[in-house]
Amino acid sequence: MDNPILTIVVPCYNEEAVLYESAQQLTDAIFSLMKEGLVSPKSRILFVDDGSRDQTWPMIEEIAKKNRLVKGLKLSRNFGHQKALLAGLEAARDESDCVITIDADLQDDITVMREFVQKYQDGCDIVYGVRKSREKDTFFKRATAQGYYRIMKRLGADLVYNHADYRLMSKRALDELSRFTEQNLFLRGVVTLIGFKTAKVYYDRKERTAGETKYPLKKMLAFAFDGITSFSVIPIRLITLIGLFTFLSSSIAGIYALYAKFFGHADEGWTSIIISIWLLGGFMLTSMGLIGEYIGKIYQEAKQRPRYTVEQDALQEPAGQQVLRTSRDIAKRIN
Ligand code: UDP
Ligand code: MG
Repeated sequence: MDNPILTIVVPCYNEEAVLYESAQQLTDAIFSLMKEGLVSPKSRILFVDDGSRDQTWPMIEEIAKKNRLVKGLKLSRNFGHQKALLAGLEAARDESDCVITIDADLQDDITVMREFVQKYQDGCDIVYGVRKSREKDTFFKRATAQGYYRIMKRLGADLVYNHADYRLMSKRALDELSRFTEQNLFLRGVVTLIGFKTAKVYYDRKERTAGETKYPLKKMLAFAFDGITSFSVIPIRLITLIGLFTFLSSSIAGIYALYAKFFGHADEGWTSIIISIWLLGGFMLTSMGLIGEYIGKIYQEAKQRPRYTVEQDALQEPAGQQVLRTSRDIAKRIN
């Protein structure tokens, strides 16, 4: 097999604090892969600016001007992490044999990219980066994350445990991914549905070196909930079950109430009525909300709006810029 052209896709939202450092480290990483002959000299790093409000895009442009390995893609506004990833993947697909996605803060260990590529060379179409442990996370994040994976598994989505969005995908896998046209694309759930030969690579996740998390609790919960409702109708089925159960038990209670009225002593009944009103009311409102959530999803899908909009595409080689084509070129640049 020829050396594959690799594109590293990096979604960035307000990442000015880490961008230079990340670009530097990724450049070094991709250079050494080239030097070892593991990837083609046409390999690139693609920063996707997800509508940042800080200096992220001007910085990407500046880096791309100086560093020919770096390209940029600017979305027209903030579309969110998943859509930024998707935009990068689709932009990179045509020019690459394989694509690695990684967060801009480089919390994920970039040295295992070598293993990613080796697995790809061995014929894997998808390589998952999996965290060895969650020691660096707060107890709260660790506990909720673990609970979440369990729930998702019960609900039928086959997530890779402790895998986020650090992964390699081959062109073939990306072609398949592009056939998943849903609006609410939950990447880490969908990717496992693609199939093909896959592998896992384990690494230690670091703390964010600079800047702050772009996933505050509110966003995290929304993301988790989206993940569930875009993958499973079991919550709705659960409601039906609870409904049936309520119906059965209230029928029995009803029979007892009639019996008490005619053959025994009936209380005034205020307590039982007030309790059942509130209980049923709460249950019904929750059910309607949940069903509404699914209907909302159908509504969004039915509109078939574009999932993201690209404002500026600096992926194309600028005219007049020399492209590194041979490994000798690279060696010259490195030395
Ligand atoms: N991100 C993005 N759009 C958003 C939010 C986040 O592109 O709306 C990017 C962000 O720049 C980073 C990645 O998604 O590269 C993951 O975000 P972060 O590191 O803040 O999440 P955490 O590691 O805390 O879960
Ligand atoms: Mg992070």
